[in-house]
Amino acid sequence: MIFTVKVRNLYSYLQGLILCSGFIWHYASPLKYGPKYIILYILIAYAFATMTFRWLRKIRVFKTDYLIYTGQLFEAFVIMLIIRYTGGIESQFFLVYFPLIVFISVYSSGWRAIFGIFWYGLCFMLAVYSGSFSFEFWNIAVIKLGFIWAVGSVSFAVAHQMKASENKLLKTLDALNERTWELESSQAQLSNIYETTRALSGILNLEELLKEILRIARNIFRYRHCSVYLTRPGSDQLYLYANLQNDNRHIYEKPTPYNRDINSLKYLQDTGSMLKQLTESGTNGISKSADVPMISRGKVIGIMQITPESGGAITAKERKLLMIFSNSSAIAIDNSMLHKKTQELTITDELTDLFNFRYFRSRLADELRRADRYRQKLSILMLDIDHFKNVNDQYGHQTGNIVLCEVSGIIRLCVRDVDVVARYGGEEFIVILPQTDREDAEIIAERIRETVAKNYFQNNNGSREIQITISIGGCTYPDGTHTLEQLLEKVDGALYRAKSEGRNVVFFTGSEKKRSTEFTV
Ligand code: GH3
Ligand code: MG
Ligand code: MG
Repeated sequence: MIFTVKVRNLYSYLQGLILCSGFIWHYASPLKYGPKYIILYILIAYAFATMTFRWLRKIRVFKTDYLIYTGQLFEAFVIMLIIRYTGGIESQFFLVYFPLIVFISVYSSGWRAIFGIFWYGLCFMLAVYSGSFSFEFWNIAVIKLGFIWAVGSVSFAVAHQMKASENKLLKTLDALNERTWELESSQAQLSNIYETTRALSGILNLEELLKEILRIARNIFRYRHCSVYLTRPGSDQLYLYANLQNDNRHIYEKPTPYNRDINSLKYLQDTGSMLKQLTESGTNGISKSADVPMISRGKVIGIMQITPESGGAITAKERKLLMIFSNSSAIAIDNSMLHKKTQELTITDELTDLFNFRYFRSRLADELRRADRYRQKLSILMLDIDHFKNVNDQYGHQTGNIVLCEVSGIIRLCVRDVDVVARYGGEEFIVILPQTDREDAEIIAERIRETVAKNYFQNNNGSREIQITISIGGCTYPDGTHTLEQLLEKVDGALYRAKSEGRNVVFFTGSEKKRSTEFTV
């Protein structure tokens, strides 16, 4: 383009040069009439014709290229006349052909240039022909014509080469532009995905996290189907945790086992073979879905099974984005599980897996507030194993631990899901029974006492021969109690009373009723 514009400017200068040299010749010529004025008229006609051509070009009546080409042919004719009236074969105006031929060769292409060169040569011959083909005429005219054609051919060849390399350059630039555009768009896509998936790490609740992963899979990646299978700590079995079918998302509260375990997918740990597998499944059309490993801290924690919306092959770019997505999801899931575990550890007792005392206190405060707000009753049980020291002494500390765990299990079985069972310390337990009045609480306490008393506990060597009893103190809120501390004092007092009543007893504050003692250790 730049090249063409420059050549066009050159053409205008040439036209100016032809006019200037013609006018100079007119004024410098010693002739008085004849050719001198013919040249002047020709120049004036030429100037006028040139202006007309320019104007036609400007108002775009005809195709510009076509106009320029016609103008050049007309110019050859004008120069022919100038040569003819300025000395024929002796005229030096034939030199003007050279730049014009160069121009026509460079500007026009193919047959037009060849025809142009031929036409200029013919015009030259007509200009210098004087009626006879003498030897002298041939000698000079043919040499000059030869020059004209040689200049034309060389210019044409050079211009052709230049155009070819210009086209090549333009093609390379086009390819470069396209590549840059592709790169920019994939970078934008990448940073979009990076930002979106980065937000995943801020979600600590697993259910919310899985919901968000499926949302991204549907809305950003446009997957038709996406399933998240995860392993559980200490096991290689995969479980289905979340599933997306078209626009329906489902998070499994109780994840269902999958018929493949992570060992059958070990090859997925190798990124290279995973990419190969993805490519093959896409291009061969065997499977239009792909299993992508979810890697966190260098370990495969699950797989993401996806089916793209298009249903076709998964491109190299998609594969990379898919891996970024699946790995970011894996890291976020791993973090959320770790967070859950840490949280559980801070609120649970390591030996019995019951809640610990700290959690119990804060939960009791919450439950008391709730009981106040809804004007409901709440009961508390404090439980202490009778003569537990004897169990330790007789069977050993290890067996004591087993008994503690079994007692925890019994308590848990005897209460509802909404009740809170905690280890108060040593061999003491405490239970919060929300929305429970004293009568119901006494029934629950009695059930626990009885179940423990009737149970044979396992000793260290596996045989079930240990029998123990448990004393339970209980009290109900509000029934005259106003604060958490008062409540704890009261229930502690009740337990003390149960112990002093002879153990294996349930004692509620404000009750003098004593339960029977069937078993003692
Ligand atoms: P009482 O009927 O008066 O409650 O008698 P007790 O022997 O149960 O009460 P005491 O408070 O004298 O003894 C409690 C025992 O519980 C002492 C301690 O060795 C034992 N104990 C506390 N925590 C654990 C534990 O985690 N594991 C085991 N094996 N024993 C524990
Ligand atoms: Mg005890
Ligand atoms: Mg005790």
